[in-house]
Amino acid sequence: MLSEKMLDALNGQMNAEFDSAHLYLSMSYFFSGQNLSGMAHWMKTQYEEEVEHAGKIADYINARGGRIALSAIDAPGGEWDSPLAVFEDAYNQECKVTAMIHKLVDSAREEDDKATENFLAWFIDEQVEEEATTLEVVEKMRMIGDATGALFMYDQVLGKRSGD
Ligand code: MG
Repeated sequence: MLSEKMLDALNGQMNAEFDSAHLYLSMSYFFSGQNLSGMAHWMKTQYEEEVEHAGKIADYINARGGRIALSAIDAPGGEWDSPLAVFEDAYNQECKVTAMIHKLVDSAREEDDKATENFLAWFIDEQVEEEATTLEVVEKMRMIGDATGALFMYDQVLGKRSGD
C-alpha cells in the first residue's frame, strides 16, 4: 500500500508526464504548420513516449492499490521563433522532468518505500537518454544555424525516428 504522500507524488508525476505529452503534441503541430514534417514526426513520437510514461506510472499506482487521479492539463505554448527554439524548450522540459523524478526518489526514500524507489530507477535511466537525445538535436540545430538546405536535410533525418 502506498502512503498518502507517495500516492500524491506519483499522481503528480503522472500528470506532469501528460503535461509534457501535451507540450510535445503542440510542438508537433507547430512543425506541421511550418512544413517540417520530419520534425513534426519526431515530436509526435516524443508525445507518444510521454503518454507511455504516464501510463507506466498509472499502472504502478494501480498495482499498489492506489487511486489514479487525473488532473487538468494546462494549455501548452503553441508559437516559437524558430525550430531551434522549439528543441531548446523540449530540452528544458526534459531537464525539469529529470529534477522532478529525482525529487520523487527522495520522497520514496523518506517514506522508506523500496518498491517505489526501485520502480523509479527505470525513469532515472530514461531521463539520461531523453536529455541526451534532445540535446543532440539542439546542438545539431545550432550547427545548422541559418542554412536552410541543411535544415531541410536534417528534417528528413528526424523524420526517420522510430518509436524507441
Ligand atoms: Mg517522460
